[in-house]
Amino acid sequence: MFDLEQLIRPHLRSIQRYSSARDEFFGEASVYLDANESPFANRLNRYPDGNQRELCKVGSTWLGLDPKQLLFVNGSDEGIDLLIRAFAEPGQDRILISSPTYGMYKVWAEVSGVGVVDLPLKEDFELDGEQLAQRNDNRDKLLFICSPNNPSGNSFPRSEILSIVRNFSGLVVVDEAYIDFASSPSLLVDLANCPNLVILRTFSKAWGFAGLRVGMVIASPSIIEVLRRIKPPYNIGTPAQDKIISALSCAQQLAQVKTNVELLKAERARLGQAIGGLPSVVRVFPSQGNFLLVRTSDSKRIYECLLARGIVVRDRSNQTGCSGCLRVSVGTPDENDILLSCWRSCV
Ligand SMILES: *Cc1c(COP(=O)(O)O)cnc(C)c1O
Repeated sequence: MFDLEQLIRPHLRSIQRYSSARDEFFGEASVYLDANESPFANRLNRYPDGNQRELCKVGSTWLGLDPKQLLFVNGSDEGIDLLIRAFAEPGQDRILISSPTYGMYKVWAEVSGVGVVDLPLKEDFELDGEQLAQRNDNRDKLLFICSPNNPSGNSFPRSEILSIVRNFSGLVVVDEAYIDFASSPSLLVDLANCPNLVILRTFSKAWGFAGLRVGMVIASPSIIEVLRRIKPPYNIGTPAQDKIISALSCAQQLAQVKTNVELLKAERARLGQAIGGLPSVVRVFPSQGNFLLVRTSDSKRIYECLLARGIVVRDRSNQTGCSGCLRVSVGTPDENDILLSCWRSCV
């Protein structure tokens, strides 16, 4: 039986969160002299709402969830860090990852002095369900599954993730940074039945707000409450809160995101086809994200050649199972054409 209280690091079970001036007084007043702010109005002289009330209201309506299931974070990277700091004891506990995958899970674990156990994906980039099922160690506190996975581009079947979630004694964190580009379903609908499931979302990819730094942790109200206890009190600034509130409330903006996603998916297909026919390309892996993983016979040479022509792609050739691989983000049709013509000239 999953017991959240047992999973929280012992010294955090009873920790008091920072009580800000506006936690102690919440309402409308005409004179605010409680937070040592500047009294001179410039639209940003007041602290942002650390409880993210409006943001969570709008976000939960958009997702069809309870506002208590949501925490907005300073990029989903902050969510990864908070999860590790809340649930994994340095020098003792561990997180599980399956490489090749997003690098920040490991980085944040190492920053916290938390161990990392890597159960690599199989050669076809599928999860090694048997290996995962065989682990039975209560020091394994968090399992990160990135789906669609960066950099391999594939999603993992929902049924497979769910069976892992049911078997795992800690939290399973499903990073859905690229879900908008995927044909596979989100696991949002499964939160109600899975008390140990955590979902990460970001506004950095499909939404086009990488510069804003906003992501979401979505989980049970009790998991979210633990993260609220330890988060920096004002982790999302007012401009970022306002931007997300207005974006999520604006039908036109929602439609624009959809249009952009459809365009990128069409370009992903076109680019994948075209790259597949280029010299030194061994394989273009099918992708559910806004990027393509391309195996080449000489990644270093192609990387350098593209760079000399002003095009930067990501060299992933040193990642587990990715020898010879470059990761290419899908750009605008014009940018993709430039990539293709330069790559052709790299023979
Ligand atoms: C890009 C990316 C993120 C985004 O992180 P932010 O901090 O929200 O910008 C998260 N997870 C994965 C797998 C990513 O590729």
